[in-house]
Amino acid sequence: MPIFIFDSTILDKLEDKNDRRVTFIADQLAGLDKFFRERGGALRVYFGRPADIFRRLFSENTIAAVFCNEDYEPYARERDTEIAKLAAALSSRFVAVKDHVIFSPAEVVKDDGSPYQVFTPYSRRWIEKFSAYLPVIALELPRGEFMPAPPNLRLLSLADIGFMRNPAEFPAAKIDESLIANYDKTRDLPALAGTSRLGMHLRFGTISVRYLALRAYELNHKYLAELIWREFYQMILWFFPQTVSRPFREAYAKLKFPGSRSDFEIWCRGETGYPLVDAGMHELTETGFMHNRVRMVAASFLTKHLLCDWRWGERFFARHLNDFELASNVGGWQWCAGIGADAAPYFRIFNPSEQQKKFDPQGDYVARWNGRADDLFGTPMDTTPEEVRAQGSRQRPEMVPMIDHRFARERCLKFFSAVRP
Ligand SMILES: Cc1cc2nc3c(=O)[nH]c(=O)nc-3n(C[C@H](O)[C@H](O)[C@H](O)COP(=O)(O)OP(=O)(O)OC[C@H]3O[C@@H](n4cnc5c(N)ncnc54)[C@H](O)[C@@H]3O)c2cc1C
Repeated sequence: MPIFIFDSTILDKLEDKNDRRVTFIADQLAGLDKFFRERGGALRVYFGRPADIFRRLFSENTIAAVFCNEDYEPYARERDTEIAKLAAALSSRFVAVKDHVIFSPAEVVKDDGSPYQVFTPYSRRWIEKFSAYLPVIALELPRGEFMPAPPNLRLLSLADIGFMRNPAEFPAAKIDESLIANYDKTRDLPALAGTSRLGMHLRFGTISVRYLALRAYELNHKYLAELIWREFYQMILWFFPQTVSRPFREAYAKLKFPGSRSDFEIWCRGETGYPLVDAGMHELTETGFMHNRVRMVAASFLTKHLLCDWRWGERFFARHLNDFELASNVGGWQWCAGIGADAAPYFRIFNPSEQQKKFDPQGDYVARWNGRADDLFGTPMDTTPEEVRAQGSRQRPEMVPMIDHRFARERCLKFFSAVRP
């Protein structure tokens, strides 16, 4: 009896009632339901608090066992523990199986059982284990019969759960082998479709990470390394759940980021005057995606140039990213702010204009998301709004950089060095 629960604890917190991800999930459920109906079953979809739904299911059915996938996020761990207790009280088994990752957090640890805190040795151990694991990868579909669906059973619609359909288009759950084979050459150029766009499918479990990792192992280890980063962050969140809101490096917990809410809002609107940062923010809010290189530059700009609290940026990304995943988002933000596990040190401060020259040399990416190609490479600090407007760009007057890079750099060094661990 396959079921899916739209968890009201999660949905109630979503600010946008036309959230792209909820539309994506609803569409995926319709596909799953079709799959089950062709095999004599049907998907039952519920809306509410999972523990309440399970209480009802237990009272209406005889349930020998509950199966679900392991989920390593702090909220999910609490939720699953509660349901496991409910099941145990009724002599039912609760079986959580690994699906989201190749190796669950506790499977790749140091010899003494403690967690890795640095990526390279973690990834070495991960690959060692993966090489031994390869022969046993096999796809097995569940066997047995489905419980027949009641004749009037229908899927809950978006309207039933208080949401609207978002017209966004989503990438297909398809592995492009030639893209993966060339990934190391194309991955850093945001103007190209040079990354796989599979983040959303990995996040929601609509593509098999085992199959993908196997192909990556054969085609391109650079791509495999990204999948390992994903598991590294899952592992960090599992062993250090406090990092959801505290720096991994405890010494930095003392930092009080002085950046203002109004500067943060300028960043959110993509009006910083640094074209690469602004283009990224427009790509994010308009599509739910932002290229990884640009995520790094935008996050670094917010935390290091504007000295805004990394948690503000993390929450903004959480709201908009289609592939939002707590572990990778927190990990990515702490990496950029220089306060995380194996993070970019605080004194390595991206120069957004230099990053643009290097990774978007033709200006195609910034032109696509900011409007005109002549927005290239920022404008000098002393450009007046009138001069800027005279250049005829759609983005003026905000294109005047909101802060001078050299000034911001010095300020950042001073700020962070005060608490250097
Ligand atoms: C500030 C910041 C926030 C981020 N937030 C998220 C997030 O919420 N969810 C998320 O999945 N990724 C996040 N990332 C990592 C990365 O940017 C995205 O995974 C990637 O851009 C997704 O695009 P893609 O599917 O085309 O990735 P590809 O480049 O094709 O990579 C393949 C897959 O590997 C994984 N991956 C790639 N890079 C990373 C990385 N640095 N860390 C962890 N996993 C990685 C993803 O699952 C990705 O789909 C963040 C990075 C930064 C700097």
